[in-house]
Amino acid sequence: MSASELSPSEPPAPPPLPDTADVNLLAALIARGENASSKRSSNTVLLITIALFVGLGGFYWGWHMVLYLLVAIALHEIGHVIAMRAFGYKNVRMLFIPLFGGLATGEPRESDAAKNAMVALAGPAFGLVTAAAAIALAYTLGSPPMLVEFAWISLLLNAFNLLPLVPLDGGQVANDTLFSRYPVLELIFRLLAVAALGWLAFALQAWVLALLPVFLLISTPLAYRRACLIRDARLDPSWQTRHLDLEAAAMLRAIVATLFKSVAPSAYEKKLPEHAHGLWMDIRKRFPGPGRTTALLAAYLTLCLIVVPVIAMLLVVGFESPVFAQ
Ligand SMILES: [Zn+2]
Repeated sequence: MSASELSPSEPPAPPPLPDTADVNLLAALIARGENASSKRSSNTVLLITIALFVGLGGFYWGWHMVLYLLVAIALHEIGHVIAMRAFGYKNVRMLFIPLFGGLATGEPRESDAAKNAMVALAGPAFGLVTAAAAIALAYTLGSPPMLVEFAWISLLLNAFNLLPLVPLDGGQVANDTLFSRYPVLELIFRLLAVAALGWLAFALQAWVLALLPVFLLISTPLAYRRACLIRDARLDPSWQTRHLDLEAAAMLRAIVATLFKSVAPSAYEKKLPEHAHGLWMDIRKRFPGPGRTTALLAAYLTLCLIVVPVIAMLLVVGFESPVFAQ
C-alpha cells in the first residue's frame, strides 16, 4: 500500500451542485404525483360545459336531439369515469364539448396500456348497456317514442366511438394493445385515422367533425418525434426501476429539450413539468402480453360485432323507425 492511500492529503472533491432547473423540475414532478383533485372547480367546469352544450346544441340540432345526446354522452362518459375510479386514477373529470361531444379525463398513477384500453372500452360498453336497458324499458312501457329515439341515438354514438380510429375509443384500444409500442406503426395508424375521419366528415358534411383530423394531422410530427424518443429511452431498461430523483429529472429535461430542439426554450419551459411527467409515464409504460392483448381485442370485437348489431336488430325489429320530432 502506498502512503497516499493510507492518508489522503486532500479531501475528496464534493459532487457537482445540481442544476437549479433540475431541482425545480423534480419538485414540480413530485408535486404532480401528489396533487389532490379540486372537485369544486371540476363541477363548475362540468356545469358550464353542459349549459353551453345544451344552448348551442339546442340552437343547431333542436331541443329533443340535444337532450338525447346529453344523456347518451353523459352515460358514455360515466362508463369511462367508473373505470378510471376503479383503477385509482387521479383528477378524474368529465366535461362536454359544445357541438362535439364529451370528454372524461383522469391521470393514472402508473402507466399501463391494458388499463388504458379497459378505460377506453368502458365508455362504449356502459353506453351500450344503457341503450339495451332503454330498449327493455321501451318494450315493457309500450314503445314510448322518447325511449326508442334515445336508444337509437345512444347506439349510433357508441358505435361511432368504437370505430378503430384515434382519438376515438376504438382507436385507443387498438393503439394501446397493438400499435403504441412501435412508433412507425403508430404513425401509420394515426395517418389512416386522419384520412378516414376526413373522409367521414366530408361524407356526412359534418364540419365540426373535420376539426378532429386537422388537429390530429397538425400534432402528428411532434407525436412521432416523441414516440421515437420514448422508444430510444425504453432501450435502457434501468428506466423501469429508476426512482424519480435528480438524475431522472435531468434526463427527462434533456429529452424534452431534444423533443423541442427546433423551438426556443421559452416556448415549452412553462409546460416543462407536464411534458417531463408525460414522458416519465410513457417511458415506463407497461404493455399487455399476448394473453391480455387477445382478451382486450376479443372484448372490443364482441362490442363491435355482436353487441352493436344485436341492439340495432332489436330496434329495427321491435319498434317503428323514430321520426326524431324537434
Ligand atoms: Zn369515449
